[in-house]
Amino acid sequence: MDTRHGYQPLKMEDPGQRIDTEFSAAEFDALLNAAVDGIIVTDRQGRLLRMNAAAERMFGYQETEITGQAIDIIMNPRDARQHGRYMDNYLRTGERKIIGIGREVVARHRSGREFPVDLAIGEASVGDEMRFVGLIRDLTEQKLAEEEALRQREQMNHASRLTTMGEMAAAMAHELNQPLSAIANYTAACQRLLQQEGQAQASPDVDRALDQISVQAHRAAEIIQRIRDFARSREAAREPIDLRDLIAQILPLARMDARAHHTDLRVRLEKDLPVVMADPIQIQQVLLNLIRNGIDAMEAVPARDRRLDLRAWLEDAEHVRVTVTDRGPGVPEDAKDGLFTPFFTTKASGMGLGLAISRSIATAHGGTLSHFNNPVAGATFYLILPTKIEPEEDEGHD
Ligand code: ADP
Repeated sequence: MDTRHGYQPLKMEDPGQRIDTEFSAAEFDALLNAAVDGIIVTDRQGRLLRMNAAAERMFGYQETEITGQAIDIIMNPRDARQHGRYMDNYLRTGERKIIGIGREVVARHRSGREFPVDLAIGEASVGDEMRFVGLIRDLTEQKLAEEEALRQREQMNHASRLTTMGEMAAAMAHELNQPLSAIANYTAACQRLLQQEGQAQASPDVDRALDQISVQAHRAAEIIQRIRDFARSREAAREPIDLRDLIAQILPLARMDARAHHTDLRVRLEKDLPVVMADPIQIQQVLLNLIRNGIDAMEAVPARDRRLDLRAWLEDAEHVRVTVTDRGPGVPEDAKDGLFTPFFTTKASGMGLGLAISRSIATAHGGTLSHFNNPVAGATFYLILPTKIEPEEDEGHD
């Protein structure tokens, strides 16, 4: 038997029936190389003794090339120093800072490229010798996915702030237009009165002040008009989008949110979802808002019963329906009508704008946003979107 590195066969005794459970070195090698994670074995001085195929791929070395070398060769120098200190400390005091505990470290590829890995270290005695076995999982993709989710969340927050601002600006513009027109009209009336009574020349300062009031009122009205145009131009963004892709993009974020609130998020999307004409960011914002509300609604539900279903299917030839179903208390009878009005909220830190904005987005897309309480528990909010553009104007007839 090959005891190249002093491996002893593992023996297991079965009192009932004796079966041969010894591992030959060849079997052990096969096992090592079948592992998906990288596996390295070192001695107590931190010298590499073995490296499986996955680790070879991960670090770009052949096992034979680096046998006997210090483990530092595959680690970022700072982490290697830290690792060395931990191991010395462990060997001196027996204090487990990394043995048996997974830890994130920066590994180094032969090319010098550094990448994050999860490193778990186990310990084994082989005769009098001590061996450390490191299990290494490459975290590069996981990190990238996390960064992407974070980036999306920031983008979404930004878009949501913009839309909220746009909506509020439009509402404010509408409210402010009337008093501004009144100011302009009263000013003009005052100027006329002064003129009629021949006072305009007698009090030139008053006349000039009234002129200025008029100019400034018009200026304010223009600013407001620009804000309204801006809010309107946000609504105009429409592009053909695959609804599956659109939903897929928000899923990492939704899952993160669900996980953080111990909610089981289940997604079922019909295979052939059609293309819709939509502003992707706005529709994503609507869906995220419904998901968030569903999660919030289950706050008082025991964690094991928190389940949120996101579904989408073709409603009929021209409409697609997306639903978000929770298992919370449902919408109370007296809240049913207020839900979609701005500033309606039952949450301590709620703004009450989510559903109001979401409905205005749905309507601007030629769709609808509504809800019903489920027969058993919770509420279902649904968004219906048209699958093709409505004809703009009937140009064929006069
Ligand atoms: P906010 O979340 O800031 O309160 P929204 O406009 O998104 O603003 O929601 C308004 C209100 O509608 C919530 O405060 C809540 O009372 C109610 N609501 C929304 N979604 C649900 C739901 N899934 N179940 C029960 N009530 C809901």
